[in-house]
Amino acid sequence: METPMPLTPATGAFEARLRAILPAAAFRDYTDHYRLEPRGSYRGADALLVAPADTGQVAAVVRACHEARVGVVPFGGGTGLVGGQLMQGGPPPVILSLERMAAIRALHPAEDVLVAEAGAILADVQAAAARAGRLFPLGLASEGSCRIGGNLATNAGGVNVLRYGNARALCLGLEAVLPDGSIWHGLTRLRKDNTGYDLRDLLIGAEGTLGVITAASLRLFPRPASETAALLAVASPQAALDLLGLASETLGGSVSAFELMHRNGMVFLAETMPEVRLPLDPAPEWSVLVDVGAAAGLDLDAALEHFMEAGVERGLILDGVLAQNAAHRAAFWTMRETIPEANRRIGSVSSHDISVPLGALPEFIARADAAVTALGPFRINCFGHVGDGNLHYNVFPPQGASAAAFAAQRKPVKMAVHDLVHALGGSVSAEHGIGRLKVDDLERYADPARLAAMRAIKAALDQHGIMNPGAVLRAG
Ligand SMILES: Cc1cc2nc3c(=O)[nH]c(=O)nc-3n(C[C@H](O)[C@H](O)[C@H](O)COP(=O)(O)OP(=O)(O)OC[C@H]3O[C@@H](n4cnc5c(N)ncnc54)[C@H](O)[C@@H]3O)c2cc1C
Repeated sequence: METPMPLTPATGAFEARLRAILPAAAFRDYTDHYRLEPRGSYRGADALLVAPADTGQVAAVVRACHEARVGVVPFGGGTGLVGGQLMQGGPPPVILSLERMAAIRALHPAEDVLVAEAGAILADVQAAAARAGRLFPLGLASEGSCRIGGNLATNAGGVNVLRYGNARALCLGLEAVLPDGSIWHGLTRLRKDNTGYDLRDLLIGAEGTLGVITAASLRLFPRPASETAALLAVASPQAALDLLGLASETLGGSVSAFELMHRNGMVFLAETMPEVRLPLDPAPEWSVLVDVGAAAGLDLDAALEHFMEAGVERGLILDGVLAQNAAHRAAFWTMRETIPEANRRIGSVSSHDISVPLGALPEFIARADAAVTALGPFRINCFGHVGDGNLHYNVFPPQGASAAAFAAQRKPVKMAVHDLVHALGGSVSAEHGIGRLKVDDLERYADPARLAAMRAIKAALDQHGIMNPGAVLRAG
């Protein structure tokens, strides 16, 4: 395999060339919004920011970059947590923001399909589906800022994967600009299409390394006629898992989310955002948030009460609150969705977005807690989408200390957690992706045949290595 030539900076003659082919409105100031990632762990180096207005302009930019061998970093909402949307060094790239391509192109309610441009904010896609009486179920705490192209590029997960699947499962077709500047018109609305290699599945989760997604056709669902939630104290992670089994038996397909939270999530909220209401007081060591939605004709409150009674009888539920109304349910979710912000304010020593087979969750938590506490006096906030076997296992300094004081332990902590995940047959990136943060982890843990195939695909589609250089796969 040939090593690509070094990249050219997006300055001087190249910048002049782009300014000649794009209207002035496509050039934006490269502010901190684009330079900084949400946790403040990365700062982008110099770059040229362009925001094309349509797919033709995206293709013109990528074609020029391909010809001149200039790096291109696609940029959605900038909420990615693994440093995929910025470059910290190297020849200044083009940051290609999709923010001006935010239209809902079409709605096909009878087919349950919506076609959106890649720059549409996730909350706007949800709202457009709701206006048509439908549900677009992808739901993340960052939904007010992340964009659908970024969601697909990272194959985002979130809180409703248990019922509706991740971003990949919600996408029927894509329109994209490939690394040589050609446009792939793949905006199909088909649910069955076995015509060879699936380029859609290749681009989803590729984090901008194989092309720029410019639009997507997305699956919609009927809106549940009624929705409610319960917040339940459980004795242990094993009890949470057993309760998940009970929920599948008694509530069937109506369970939309099943979230596990450790007490430290509530402790961090009380420390950093005391205005956020904590429905269970005192906060239990472990709790789960169960969210359910059902079609008309089903008495959801009665079904949830029956589930809770059975959970108490089996000794799985220690205490609990059933949402009395929509505002009460929303308060449960505000608490859950504010935990990442509380984590950010406390400042982690090391954060891990992992998944393990469902049955291995309790063992993972017990062994990871033992391994991490053996390395220092850390506070652990473990929470996440337990129904998907996906935990955010985040390690923090003791109260009053700063994460910087424990910088030397960051690597040993990460290795201890990731080695254990790997030994249990899990993944070191369940939903956030690889970006630039986990390139070493991918090299360490990925199956060698798979890694070689990934490198071959990248080299075949992106001969000059211009697409998001250094993300997912090491550059050069
Ligand atoms: C508070 C908070 C909560 C979060 N919760 C979750 C969660 O529950 N589940 C989850 O999965 N993630 C979560 N995230 C992470 C993040 O929101 C997701 O990864 C999201 O999908 C990123 O979308 P974005 O538009 O912000 O992408 P960006 O951050 O802009 O980009 C992310 C990656 O996608 C690439 N990219 C962006 N747009 C395109 C495009 N059009 N074509 C090709 N490549 C592109 C970028 O180059 C980069 O590699 C959370 C983040 C925050 C800050």
